[in-house]
Amino acid sequence: MDESLLVAEQARIFSDETRRQIERIRRIGKRLFNVPNCIIALGDGPRNFDESGGLAGSAEAAFCHEFAMPNGLVVVPDAHVDQSLQQHRAVAGAPHIRFYASHPVHNSDRIAIGSISLIDYLPRAFNEEDGRLLIDLAALVERELHLRSISASQLDLQKKNKNLRRKSLIDPLLGTWNRGAIMRILTIEAVRCDKMGIPLSLIVADLDYFKKINDTYGHPAGDAVLVKVASRLRSCIRPQEALGRYGGEEFLVVLPGATSSTARAVAERMRLAVALQPEAIGDATFNLTISAGIASTDVFSSATTEELISRADIALYAAKDAGRNCVVQATPDLS
Ligand code: GH3
Ligand code: MG
Ligand code: MG
Repeated sequence: MDESLLVAEQARIFSDETRRQIERIRRIGKRLFNVPNCIIALGDGPRNFDESGGLAGSAEAAFCHEFAMPNGLVVVPDAHVDQSLQQHRAVAGAPHIRFYASHPVHNSDRIAIGSISLIDYLPRAFNEEDGRLLIDLAALVERELHLRSISASQLDLQKKNKNLRRKSLIDPLLGTWNRGAIMRILTIEAVRCDKMGIPLSLIVADLDYFKKINDTYGHPAGDAVLVKVASRLRSCIRPQEALGRYGGEEFLVVLPGATSSTARAVAERMRLAVALQPEAIGDATFNLTISAGIASTDVFSSATTEELISRADIALYAAKDAGRNCVVQATPDLS
């Protein structure tokens, strides 16, 4: 995009604070030089920050846009005696501009992106000190725009960081938490539940005979099945509970506050959510089932998170041994 268009685009989306700040500089300019109009024009067109702080076109703003020079100070003490200006419609006619002084406003790459101009309807003298003051005002506008662009790019960076962080926690295929994230959630929730004196349960769920699906229909079909199963499992939990991909086709569900009997009910719900209706993918129909193991702190009161997972794993193996498509609760004597 052309630089001036970019700036015009930015001008449209100036924050209220930037508009107010530029309007303040404009008011200072008017008072400092005691001129009827001080115009700060930015971008590709005859725009001006009007009294209300908005952008407005005007004959003066159009004039400034036409005559501001990108390289430095322009001073016209009396437009009536200036060969190139005396015939101009804004000089010969309304609003009868006589005096004009302007200085460019640059962006941080020193590219002129606008100007600050003084307008009077009477001729006037403009000495070197006046010139320096106008340059100072232009520098204030530049500083304001620079600050704005820094905060805009900071916001952009924050957004990108947030997205990256989110990506680093989510399984790209299933959209569930990935292994690292679900383990972290488990650690945090275990500490929180312990502090609050409430139970915590976890479920390890694994698809039954999944390898057969891959072998028969191919890996992409297997992937599609996994996506559908993850979505069915997700529908069984509440917002404060978390579903993560623990391994290839193995899920870990963290249930803060859930007793072993609540966890069993959730696991049963998940089992039925997968088993009750076949899944159609393409032309194929899959009758899917899961097996699940549960471990709870109301059964293993002093267990670490690693021990809980290992207990749930043992219960999962027991569920597989028991013929699959079932839920087993870990108990101290189960091994
Ligand atoms: P069981 O009932 O004992 O769990 O049998 P199973 O066939 O489900 O178990 P097994 O561990 O033998 O096989 C799991 C398979 O899951 C092996 C692996 O190729 C497959 N798998 C793991 N991750 C993915 C994945 O992301 N996509 C697909 N399509 N397959 C996966
Ligand atoms: Mg399996
Ligand atoms: Mg497995």
